[in-house]
Amino acid sequence: MVLAQLGGSISRAIQQMSNATIIDEKVLNECLNEITRALLQSDVQFKLVRDMQTNIKKIVNLEDLAAGHNKRKIIQQAIFNELCKMLDPGKPSFTPKKGKTSVVMFVGLQGSGKTTTCTKYAYYHQKKGWKPALVCADTFRAGAFDQLKQNATKAKIPFYGSYMESDPVKIAMEGVERFKKENCDLIIVDTSGRHKQEAALFEEMRQVSEATKPDLVVFVMDSSIGQAAFDQAHAFKQSVAVGAVIVTKMDGHAKGGGALSAVAATKSPVIFIGTGEHMDEFEVFDVKPFVSRLLG
Ligand code: GDP
Repeated sequence: MVLAQLGGSISRAIQQMSNATIIDEKVLNECLNEITRALLQSDVQFKLVRDMQTNIKKIVNLEDLAAGHNKRKIIQQAIFNELCKMLDPGKPSFTPKKGKTSVVMFVGLQGSGKTTTCTKYAYYHQKKGWKPALVCADTFRAGAFDQLKQNATKAKIPFYGSYMESDPVKIAMEGVERFKKENCDLIIVDTSGRHKQEAALFEEMRQVSEATKPDLVVFVMDSSIGQAAFDQAHAFKQSVAVGAVIVTKMDGHAKGGGALSAVAATKSPVIFIGTGEHMDEFEVFDVKPFVSRLLG
């Protein structure tokens, strides 16, 4: 189920509940079951959905709600709040400050959109007057440096990488050092991916992280990976200190549930979403407007 459909299904469930003459346990259960089904079809992890249902039932205690209470409104608000809670880990991520040097390391599987997202992130800040720079520490994928170089050149962002050096740790350190000297305030390190989670990738990530001491590690995730999202995000979080998530390809036939699961697995907020292949198809992610939009 794609994101727009998920929103539509939830809205419909709420509408049906609202249309009922009397809101009793049966009507509430039907509404919650409908929402549960929609979330599961969107690949939200089962446990998250079950917790949400339990929480709403706890908040909306129909027996205790005396006549005169607007039950519809209370239920709607509880659903809205629970969806927000799923996407809000409760603490904001580290936010770089303009004019003060920060190192931000990007991690994710190959094909997740990591390299594209690094440039988008740099470009977004550059437009706001920052001095970003890109370091290509991906020595695993042939062509990774060329891709980053091309993107960076197009956006007029300084970059660092090597065709000869095969040690990603060395490149990462050299790049970060150089851009620190050049007073760049946002040094973005693009790391290698792999087709699947494997020990070599995680070891490399750990080493690059240890060498560059990033202020923030961003986990980049393709929104179409579905139910695999939770385990994948969790595996990355166990290897490096993931502090934020960027979900890519939200323009495609994305199942929105992956984003919810990644937040739960990393206990980190989604900070941006990718909505296309172009440099400016990139949006700041805000939980409440997102959920409002989702529910139409
Ligand atoms: P990496 O291997 O993780 O570095 O992935 P790339 O940055 O090379 O991206 C893989 C593919 O996904 C490329 O064709 C990108 O153009 C595409 N891509 C990345 N982000 C988005 C997005 O938000 N929307 C769409 N539609 N495509 C994207």
